[in-house]
Amino acid sequence: MITVAYLGLGSNLGERKQNLLSAVAALKGLNGLSQVRLSQVIETAAVGGPVQGDFLNAVVECHCTISALQLLADIKDIERQLKRQRMGKDHPRTIDIDILLFGDEIHESAELTVPHPRMHQRDFVMRPLAEFLPEYCANATANI
Ligand code: ADP
Ligand code: MG
Repeated sequence: MITVAYLGLGSNLGERKQNLLSAVAALKGLNGLSQVRLSQVIETAAVGGPVQGDFLNAVVECHCTISALQLLADIKDIERQLKRQRMGKDHPRTIDIDILLFGDEIHESAELTVPHPRMHQRDFVMRPLAEFLPEYCANATANI
């Protein structure tokens, strides 16, 4: 069975564009992922946390034959490979990859909350996501 998933990517440390492209290359190399497509890349001011540099953000669409939890584990591996240092919530990062949507699945644990709880308020998620899901984003934004 194939599930279409959407991932939010962000980087505001180091070679930001290269970090995003490296993450996409790593996603393309994962077992159980295919049809990996990258949205436009946009530059946005950081939300919350200490004073820090602007982000580059993008969304990835992919077709998954792995589970949402397996995808989460694989994403954390990629973040580690790209030398993400966990300095705390909302701190600068070389790469952040979040699962926004995983088909129509709903997950409500601390380890995995999908749909991503804050995505609908985040312009830096909704703008690139709208390339793939224009109607979903128009409706979601209208309902805030
Ligand atoms: P944030 O993305 O909120 O800035 P992190 O990337 O450090 O923070 O993620 C913290 C934790 O959030 C991870 O350990 C992960 O298990 C959990 N998490 C919960 N839901 C999701 C999701 N939809 N996508 C990615 N991580 C998630
Ligand atoms: Mg994250």
